[in-house]
Amino acid sequence: MKFVSTRSIEGERLSASEAILKGLAADGGLFIPEEMPSSLPDFTLDKGAWYAMYTAMKPFFDGDELEGELERICRSAFDFPIAFHTNDGKDTLELFYGPTAAFKDFGARFLAYSMETLLERRNEDITILVATSGDTGGAVASAFHGRSHISVKVLFPKGRVAERQRRQLTGWDGNVSSYEVEGSFDDCQKMVKDAFMDPELKGLSSANSINLGRLLPQYAYYVWASNLYLELYGKKPVIIIPSGNVGNSTGAFWAKAAGAPIEMIVLAVNENRTIPDYLESGEYSPRPSVETLANAMDVGAPSNMERLFALFPTYDEFSANVSSWSVSDDEIRETIKEEWEENSHIICPHTACGERVRRDHFRDDPTIVVATAHPAKFESIVEPIVGKTIAIPRSLFDIMHKESRSTEIAVDYHLLFS
Ligand SMILES: *Cc1c(COP(=O)(O)O)cnc(C)c1O
Repeated sequence: MKFVSTRSIEGERLSASEAILKGLAADGGLFIPEEMPSSLPDFTLDKGAWYAMYTAMKPFFDGDELEGELERICRSAFDFPIAFHTNDGKDTLELFYGPTAAFKDFGARFLAYSMETLLERRNEDITILVATSGDTGGAVASAFHGRSHISVKVLFPKGRVAERQRRQLTGWDGNVSSYEVEGSFDDCQKMVKDAFMDPELKGLSSANSINLGRLLPQYAYYVWASNLYLELYGKKPVIIIPSGNVGNSTGAFWAKAAGAPIEMIVLAVNENRTIPDYLESGEYSPRPSVETLANAMDVGAPSNMERLFALFPTYDEFSANVSSWSVSDDEIRETIKEEWEENSHIICPHTACGERVRRDHFRDDPTIVVATAHPAKFESIVEPIVGKTIAIPRSLFDIMHKESRSTEIAVDYHLLFS
């Protein structure tokens, strides 16, 4: 199995391991499978989700140097549950039982264990730089903490992340250092870019959401969940995914393309309407993001769109396969309230976008809404709406009670290496 760039199908052909280590293709494009696995493996659902994910991912590592290590990597990376919350066919796939209580733990942990194994074999060391305005940095810091051959520097804008998020960025020691930058998120991103351009600095790498290693687990849990749904109800589900950079949903489209039993994939977005506007007008116009209550989805120029366009190159193909609805902040609040009052189910603002789309457009269809984060991560929004304190998951509790360590620095990337 080989991976090619979205920009030049004729150019590089790399193995999964090579694509994971490189991150971005030489021509600036994103890596996609040259072809989808032609058939899904027969897997048993009773061995647990991690094993089903391992079998689903296996074809992508056919002939790859990680092939023999894949089972161990999956067992280590996915050492937490996935919950399939059934509700008479209006089900919820809860992906937030990992260490930072959001679905990004799957991709970040798989990437961390894969990179560690690859670097071990090469006896090389790398430094990962991450600029974050919140969620991604925490998942990456947590995933890479304690992995050998890798050190991580997390940069975030001072005074501009929520306290619980700050804890997830600063509660680390050893190979993870965090830097509180006296500037904006854009300044942090620029520092990372400048460091990558500096020819003196060697062995720098990134772990951002376009890395192939972060996408493959997101493919795998959709293979697992859709098969589970089919087994439970004898029907293929419509899967509704709260989306921003559309990395999570790209995994679902790959799963459907490989033959997973999925009826339709629906992207629920917040007031960042780039994708629904494209579907309506036929004109794709990325734009600056606007702030919403579902802030991990505040994206106006989704970075994985290039992968969806590679799958559906024309407007006709795109609109035949992708549907998307936008949900306002008022609707997010309303939906959190209704879901609590009707089902005693507390959901986060991102998940609420998905739930709203189900209520408005798929009331009578077999559906899975993807719950992308635990509501306790967004307690300042959710608690006043439901009128009660949300119990915090163990993993978050642990991070919140670790000693905070960070270095305050000015906007100058040299200070990261002094
Ligand atoms: C990152 C994130 C999203 C958006 O996922 P994409 O892959 O960027 O579309 C949705 N919800 C939560 C909680 C997230 O952290």
